[in-house]
Amino acid sequence: MRTAVFGGSFDPPHNGHLALCLYARELAGVERLIVSVSKNPFKALADASDDDRAAMATLLVAEINAAGAFAEMSGWELRQPGPSYTIDLLRHVAALHPGDDLVLLVGEDSYRQMPQWRESREIAQLCDIAVFGRSGSVLAVGSCGETLPPATLIDFDMPVSATEVRRLAAAGQPISHLVPPPIAAYIASHGLYRV
Ligand code: ATP
Repeated sequence: MRTAVFGGSFDPPHNGHLALCLYARELAGVERLIVSVSKNPFKALADASDDDRAAMATLLVAEINAAGAFAEMSGWELRQPGPSYTIDLLRHVAALHPGDDLVLLVGEDSYRQMPQWRESREIAQLCDIAVFGRSGSVLAVGSCGETLPPATLIDFDMPVSATEVRRLAAAGQPISHLVPPPIAAYIASHGLYRV
């Protein structure tokens, strides 16, 4: 089975994440998708808690699965005692699903940081990497030279970020055009991102 891993802080999940996951099923042939909520060591006071991010990622997964179930939320990284690294998550998924073809889904901004990731060469040996274009990225993918691991580049342009959603929510402005309705409702009912 082709299993994809999509990690993020999901603070909050937004329409870019949703579209990326649905694209992955169509374009990267993903049959199982693991949406993993990462730790947020740089958490600011107004950022959502681990529990809220996990709850919103569960709502994201429900939205993804509305088009046919293939995704699951994982809180494995949040339960690890130390810092969480993508290589450890991938080894965990490989042990859970032996024999599966693994593919890591990343946005272009994350991909360009991969040379700084722990064991990035081992990541590329363990899985395929599918990179989704991200508008606003300063460099085109590939322009960093050979330090970037081999990857499949997917043409993708969804100009939305969690930073922008948090900024609007903090200002009391509408976010319903940027996040799925259940996540907008969760943010409102839990008063998230209000400073
Ligand atoms: P923040 O604005 O807080 O940095 P974010 O919008 O980048 O958050 P994350 O949860 O950090 O959201 O992202 C998880 C993954 O999804 C990363 O690989 C990121 O590059 C990718 N991603 C997020 N939004 C988009 C988007 N609009 N287009 C393409 N990739 C995206």
